[in-house]
Amino acid sequence: KNHHQHSSISKVRVIVRLRPFLPQEISSRNGNPISCVSIQESESSFDEVTVLLKDQETSRNECYKLDAVFGQEDNNVIKIFEKEVRPLIPGIFQGYNATVFAYGATGSGKTYTMQGTDQLPGLMPLSISNILSMCKYTGSTIAISYYEIYLDKCYDLLDPKEKEFMVWSDKDGNIHLKGLAQIEVNSVAKFHEIFSIAFQRRKVANTGLNDVSSRSHGVLAITISTPSHDSVGNFVTGKLNLIDLAGNEDNRRTCNEGIRLQESAKINQSLFALSNVIYALNNSQPRIPYRESKLTRILQDSLGGTSRALMVASNHNANSNVKVDMEAKLLAWLESKG
Ligand code: ADP
Ligand code: MG
Repeated sequence: KNHHQHSSISKVRVIVRLRPFLPQEISSRNGNPISCVSIQESESSFDEVTVLLKDQETSRNECYKLDAVFGQEDNNVIKIFEKEVRPLIPGIFQGYNATVFAYGATGSGKTYTMQGTDQLPGLMPLSISNILSMCKYTGSTIAISYYEIYLDKCYDLLDPKEKEFMVWSDKDGNIHLKGLAQIEVNSVAKFHEIFSIAFQRRKVANTGLNDVSSRSHGVLAITISTPSHDSVGNFVTGKLNLIDLAGNEDNRRTCNEGIRLQESAKINQSLFALSNVIYALNNSQPRIPYRESKLTRILQDSLGGTSRALMVASNHNANSNVKVDMEAKLLAWLESKG
């Protein structure tokens, strides 16, 4: 499989990162209506796995095709970066866009994967650091934007007043984020300094799950400008979007009311729109339904086409309607491969 091809429409890679149970979860594990029917390795590719799940309540079967599965070591984010994210970076220096999503229920490890901790930096700082070291050779500069999409509206997190901004597309289909701030970053320390202040502005709330859950999608956009070495001194620009999606939740299990329920409805709607776009791209459908949500509209120039995308589905949360049984089987499958 050649992931470096830009000539044809690229598929969205879907990988799963499992995480261990946290101490407080082990005692509170409760019933799980979904069970894993089978896991099959694809014949053509060593990596690819197909997971067939059965919903016990509805008896419906769901089928997932996964491009890779990563186990539950806390430090495997480096491996995920090396195998899955680093290959996206050279294309950005050539002017292509790419997007990495963290997808999963609240508490499943999305922020842990994207931001990480001081000891174990996540995909965001790892990307910045890798891009900066490449800039030394290409003479490129990088600038970051950081914004959130909350109730289908966009807010600039680099702005102390969290200014709302508008999205519009020109006749060539380019997406413009009107007035969104961009700050040049020339070191990982500078990135952390800007990011840690901006991150505090994200809209978080307590849900009935007793968890601080992110109610908005957080988008870190890294724009790389590379001198094109032509006679007029133009720049080639490419963009990497690193997205910590809002937690997808099951409203039957949380006690969401009022604004919380409204938020959940919007979150689920935009995650549904995103999954429809990914489905359409991965199944070569002629029409890609980008316009169904703000999130997919914004990503129109960074998903499909010549852009490349990666979905990191994080999994494991005894408190939500997760596929515990699927995880157990996937772990066994991973172990059997050594
Ligand atoms: P989310 O952003 O999806 O709501 P978090 O990233 O905040 O979830 O993770 C929830 C908790 O699980 C945090 O305490 C985090 O440190 C822990 N955690 C997540 N992933 C892992 C992992 N791979 N190994 C160890 N702990 C993890
Ligand atoms: Mg989070």
